[in-house]
Amino acid sequence: MYEFAVTPAVTQLRRPGVTITEVTPGSLADELELKPTDRIVKVNGRSVRDYLDFRFQTAGETELTLRVKKQNGETLDIEFDREEGEDFGLNFEQIVPRQCANECLFCFCKGNPDDARPSLFVRDEDIRLSFLYGNYTTLSSITPDEMNRIIEQRLSPQYVSIHATDLKTRAYLLGVPEERADISEKLKTLLDNDIELHAQVVLCPEINDGVILEKTLRDLAAHYPKVVSTAVVPVALTRYNTDKRLTRVTPEFCRQTIKQVEKLQREFRRTLGKTFAFLGDEIYIKAGTDVPSRRHYGDYPQIEDGVGMVRSFLNSFEKVLKRGDAETLRSGNRGVYQASSYDLAGSVDVRTHLAAIRPKQEPQAKACGTLAAKSSGTGTILTGEMFAPILREQIEAYNRLNGTKLHVLAVPNTYFGGDVAVAGLLSGRDYLAVADKVEGDFAIFPKHTIKSDEPILIDGMMFDELQERFPVPMYDMDAKDLIGFLAGKRR
Ligand code: SF4
Repeated sequence: MYEFAVTPAVTQLRRPGVTITEVTPGSLADELELKPTDRIVKVNGRSVRDYLDFRFQTAGETELTLRVKKQNGETLDIEFDREEGEDFGLNFEQIVPRQCANECLFCFCKGNPDDARPSLFVRDEDIRLSFLYGNYTTLSSITPDEMNRIIEQRLSPQYVSIHATDLKTRAYLLGVPEERADISEKLKTLLDNDIELHAQVVLCPEINDGVILEKTLRDLAAHYPKVVSTAVVPVALTRYNTDKRLTRVTPEFCRQTIKQVEKLQREFRRTLGKTFAFLGDEIYIKAGTDVPSRRHYGDYPQIEDGVGMVRSFLNSFEKVLKRGDAETLRSGNRGVYQASSYDLAGSVDVRTHLAAIRPKQEPQAKACGTLAAKSSGTGTILTGEMFAPILREQIEAYNRLNGTKLHVLAVPNTYFGGDVAVAGLLSGRDYLAVADKVEGDFAIFPKHTIKSDEPILIDGMMFDELQERFPVPMYDMDAKDLIGFLAGKRR
């Protein structure tokens, strides 16, 4: 999921056009004397609302007129020709997300501590971000213009939080009237226009489980292959979610859910040729059962929703243990490595569209390459409590083979508390709380606990402060980095 880079922008009024943030020297845009801060407001007479519009309206066009507003208020029409497919050499401001109008019982914003970094309070509900970054929307307040835009610009696939196809249950969960919760016509329009959908169910015990869940999965599967997949992920309640209507997910609940959904998965594999409905990794871990095999997940359609990350990681790790094909593992491709399982809740970007502007990656902590070259092989790998036992088992096998002394340390999440045990939500103070348990001469910690465009942790602590107070040098790694590091240290 995309976490917004520039929170203050969310509160700005929307102005027409899109602002240029970078012009590549020597590019077409440079020749046209376009500058950062210029706003492109029209392309060939058509209004531009954001960079997606700019890309859509310029795609395939070789004769162009751009209406540009300069910072001094001057407006220019720039006419020019370009070669087919010639790049402009432009970068743009990020999309200002549209906010949701729901009051979901389990909304993550209600579970945030007051001092969490501001971007965690952004309640986005934006079909553009759904297409670009795979963020889920509920479609409950989507406007006719947005519907038309999805269809006209082929913003497919869309990621939709369905939660329940039973209308009363959906309205209850979203905290909106049934008329607003009812998206059946919208779904029909999208599917009739060949827009693909990936669905999500946030599973809340005693609300949308049992027969409601079965109905939801069957209703969605009836639209396969246009509804491509459904992820069923358990509600995660922090200690700040005190709504009495919500029930925490227990190991027994997870075991029952696995049993119930396995039957449906078998049926879908028989009738559709695909598993179609996937359970989040957390459900298997909490239930104390193994995650399903590689075949179960197919092409991992919901991996960024925490579905199949553990399986993907275990398969990659097995290759580290067996083959030690360091180059293949370092490259993180050729089907060896799918996503960031080490982070588990981290922001992997398998489903980020090529057209998406990615937040600028600022240098964060320390490069793992330096560590691979210099380290003694004695250090600590920090991760969340949920993933720690799985990672520990793998690292112990690795130590036996390679003579290293790597320790896996489970870091309790005291910042969010409650059921939160994923690595991606660990805070600076959580790391400091376990500092005295660190062994060896370095510590590796999950990369996505630092914001991608700023060296800040989830509780607002700057990385420099954390490092200063930590007993050993800290290295931020995602699963790909970790696997590359381990492959590099094989003997
Ligand atoms: S859709 Fe629901 S969970 Fe998502 S931001 Fe809005 S209120 Fe929160």
